[in-house]
Amino acid sequence: MKILLVEDDRLLGDGIRAGLQQAGFAVDWAQDGRAAELALADEAYDAVVLDLGLPRLSGMEVLARARAARNAVPVLILTARDTVPDRIAGLDAGADDYLVKPFDLGELQARLRALLRRGKNPAEPVLERGALRLDPAARSVSWAGRPVELSAREYAVLHALLLNAGRVLSKAQLEEKLYGWGEEIESNAVEVFVHHLRRKLAPELIRTVRGVGYMISREPA
Ligand code: CA
Repeated sequence: MKILLVEDDRLLGDGIRAGLQQAGFAVDWAQDGRAAELALADEAYDAVVLDLGLPRLSGMEVLARARAARNAVPVLILTARDTVPDRIAGLDAGADDYLVKPFDLGELQARLRALLRRGKNPAEPVLERGALRLDPAARSVSWAGRPVELSAREYAVLHALLLNAGRVLSKAQLEEKLYGWGEEIESNAVEVFVHHLRRKLAPELIRTVRGVGYMISREPA
């Protein structure tokens, strides 16, 4: 799950980014409205956490332009001003939820999870491949009916491969789903996650296509 965080306060942005990463989200952090607008035009995010008071382009304007461009990404606005008109304006402009600063990081994580559940994928289908079952709404995975515990990044790799079953995903494509801007990527991270998935699920589930990447077959092995 990839989140665009838009916040110009460096200290606050740093804290929010760390909190979201800890909760298993990949985070791109834009520090002004124009950067946010470019990022939204460039990438499909699962959700946006949007501060309203921003340099170069206000959060409200970023939101209005995204909606005008038919971008339906779920947006949670952050506002320091706990005034009714602000909240009404934000919701009218197409925000899905809001939080008033200062807020608790746990609450932000919970509201984002709720947004992602009810947001753009209300009927996101359960993905099945043989004994494997992945339920995106519950973020749960089972093998032959037994629940399997996966880390957030293992889950992200498996989800991406299943959504693209029958197609090879390169290491770079997988890394893009796992990491935000400027985050240090360990060179063998994807290999390690694939190794864990094979161990926890089944060795033959994920195929290595030498020199290209990884894939899960469309049909059960
Ligand atoms: Ca601000």
